[in-house]
Amino acid sequence: MDDCIFCKIIRGEIPADKLYEDEHAIVIRDINPQAPFHFLAIPRKHYPGVHDIPPPLMGEVFGGVMNAYCKALEACGLVQNGYRLVANSGEIAGQTVPHLHIHVLGGRELSWPPG
Ligand code: AMP
Ligand code: ZN
Repeated sequence: MDDCIFCKIIRGEIPADKLYEDEHAIVIRDINPQAPFHFLAIPRKHYPGVHDIPPPLMGEVFGGVMNAYCKALEACGLVQNGYRLVANSGEIAGQTVPHLHIHVLGGRELSWPPG
């Protein structure tokens, strides 16, 4: 997608603090962190949301994203600390970038329920 921020980061057109990348996904630090660590795990392919992934590709896309954030957490030594995954879907949930991504948040107490 030409005007998608995350596609631009994936194409290398705008900079990002990249923690991990492979052929399926990238992990970057969120530009506006909401916790001491706040990463975004982003599939390389542009899907606005999880419902846009063709069912036969669901495992590959999600597996790639999950593997990528695990690798980033391992590289940062954060696996034992605990963390939260968040996927905002649609405006009502606060999604601002329409390219599927998983937030990985940690490094502080995370209250429940989220706002
Ligand atoms: P959401 O609101 O769930 O769609 O999440 C989008 C996230 O992308 C927000 O937490 C933003 O702070 C983050 N974000 C937007 N632009 C950038 C960027 N250029 N680099 C890193 N994170 C970004
Ligand atoms: Zn995109």
